[in-house]
Amino acid sequence: MSAVPKRILVTGGAGFLGSHLCERLLADGNDVLCADNYFTGRRDNLAALLGNPRFEALRHDVCFPLYVEVDEIYNLACPASPVHYQFDPVQTTKTSVSGAINMLGLAKRLKAKIFQASTSEVYGDPTVHPQREDYKGNVNPTGPRACYDEGKRCAETLFFDYYRQHKLRIRVARIFNTYGPRMHPNDGRVVSNFIVQALRGEEITIYGDGRQTRAFCYVDDMVEGFVRLMGAPDDVTGPINLGNPFETTVGELAHRIVAMTKSRSSIVYRPLPMDDPMQRCPDIGLARATLGWEPTVPLEIGLARTIDYFDQLLIGGDELPKSR
Ligand code: NAD
Ligand code: UDP
Ligand code: UDP
Repeated sequence: MSAVPKRILVTGGAGFLGSHLCERLLADGNDVLCADNYFTGRRDNLAALLGNPRFEALRHDVCFPLYVEVDEIYNLACPASPVHYQFDPVQTTKTSVSGAINMLGLAKRLKAKIFQASTSEVYGDPTVHPQREDYKGNVNPTGPRACYDEGKRCAETLFFDYYRQHKLRIRVARIFNTYGPRMHPNDGRVVSNFIVQALRGEEITIYGDGRQTRAFCYVDDMVEGFVRLMGAPDDVTGPINLGNPFETTVGELAHRIVAMTKSRSSIVYRPLPMDDPMQRCPDIGLARATLGWEPTVPLEIGLARTIDYFDQLLIGGDELPKSR
């Protein structure tokens, strides 16, 4: 329970990370307002919260101004999976950039603290490994991932200009691949794809040769990082990496999930999407030093919980949520 209950806005609160964050903030005794246009988020993700008198859900697109009264803002609104953010790339950039301007304008009027869900994608296909916050990145500004990468980079720029120009209290987290229950089953991300494929006995689709690496953070660890960053002293603006530094190849992940689900699925290889980063792993030295934060949930445990979630979802209904 936090000392003084706050009114907190979570944009993108009906999504994967947002719904876990809303849950955590409510558990800490706060009033939570979720604003989401349900592009990739689902009301089902909020089912357990809708009866809570401290919780309110608002259908709203952050590309439009929002006038509410809150003490803190977590700005998570933006599709996160490549399949979804490339579906309507113009809208993705608008969401990142216009959404950031509107939420920063709101924070400025209210003198509210504001958190930005940035991403490891600001590093693009990195030439430095592991990635530290001072690495400037290797982003293709005209490729299919640019709507997301450049949108998020511009949002960071806006956050730091509002910080310098308007003295806003900002917190910018660069989130690395995060997984867990409530990931969208059809969002095309590697953890959800492999688990759903394995549970259904379908072919496991590795893109490329499977030697590309990622480092996967369990959702509860990530949410703890968000809350610590928001609660840190005001000179801790970020950008700060949040992620699990345990690196694994996509091929290893596929084998691990097949073994854990005791699946008879075979592994097939598909072309690597354009601009797909070869290596990605956070250096979390800054988060350790300034927030005393590091992930605590090992991959096996987090995957087991995620497999359980998808197992229930697949048993529970023939109806999987649509991809959008
Ligand atoms: P998600 O797709 O589950 O959630 C995003 C939410 O934003 C959805 O509920 C969606 O409906 C909502 N949204 C999209 N456009 C909107 C708009 N214009 N107005 C209002 N709401 C809108 O994705 P997630 O994995 O929960 O990601 C949340 C945030 O974290 C995103 O900003 C994403 O870029 C960032 N992030 C996530 C990861 C990850 O591994 N999950 C990694 C890096 C960064
Ligand atoms: N804005 C908002 N809610 C508010 C205040 C501002 O959505 O409570 C939006 C509004 O659309 C504005 C944007 O935030 O255009 C940026 O606000 P800012 O005050 O920085 O700039 P200006 O109003 O001068 O454009
Ligand atoms: N990937 C894969 N098979 C899939 C989905 C993704 O091999 O069914 C690969 C993808 O090409 C990338 C990695 O897994 O190299 C992580 O992909 P994801 O979309 O989860 O996240 P991101 O690329 O944004 O890190």
